[in-house]
Amino acid sequence: MLIDVHTHLDFPQFDSDRKEIVGKASEDGILIINSGIGPEGIEKTINLIEKHEGILATLGLSPQEFDSGVIDETIRLIRKYKNRIVGIGEVGLDYYWIKEPEKRGRGMDNFRRFISLAKELSLPLVVHSRDAENEMVEELTAQGIKALLHCFGGSAELGKKAISFGCLVSIPTSVAYSKRKQELVGEIPLEAMVLESDAPYLAPTPRERNTPLNIRIAAKKIAEIKGIEYDKVAEITTRNAREFFNLRF
Ligand SMILES: [Zn+2]
Repeated sequence: MLIDVHTHLDFPQFDSDRKEIVGKASEDGILIINSGIGPEGIEKTINLIEKHEGILATLGLSPQEFDSGVIDETIRLIRKYKNRIVGIGEVGLDYYWIKEPEKRGRGMDNFRRFISLAKELSLPLVVHSRDAENEMVEELTAQGIKALLHCFGGSAELGKKAISFGCLVSIPTSVAYSKRKQELVGEIPLEAMVLESDAPYLAPTPRERNTPLNIRIAAKKIAEIKGIEYDKVAEITTRNAREFFNLRF
């Protein structure tokens, strides 16, 4: 069994064949954790987990969202569905798109609200940190909270620092071609790794639509880089995800 810890099957890119993909993933032994973001994504994601077996959910908000009404509503919905989800996320910091210091400051305030919520509800936290990896690891350290670092783009050094206090590093399907991701895999221990598709993004072939089915490709690449069996990668990454999200099966 494999676990895709981060995907967006509620997105419109899957409107025509969502059911088929979910069915195929379940046949292939792939458990999907869908990341529903913002009020609309949250409702769609709850709908998705109600309709299908083999899908779990985390709920969060894009770090590019600054509308206070949307943020409040997202927090209200996470509280409402707290018993049906396995974590909070993705939430986080995006300094690739957000450049103004004032806005970055507000982004950090927003992120802190979700950290508090995760602590209050005792739910695992899944974070996004684009071009803000240092700030992210610093904040998690200061807050004394571990997180799953979705699509981690920082250095191996920083990754190891995060791992030292219990964070997991999520390796996306783009590891198939991304030299940076391949180097990261070489440097960090399998015991701190999980797999993700981030579908429809980060496909193993650039610019194609990604699906959770492709996480097998990520597992194969990791096995090749580490010089270990595919089954070992499947076993350890699945165990890591189960422990992090407190999955009982
Ligand atoms: Zn994502």
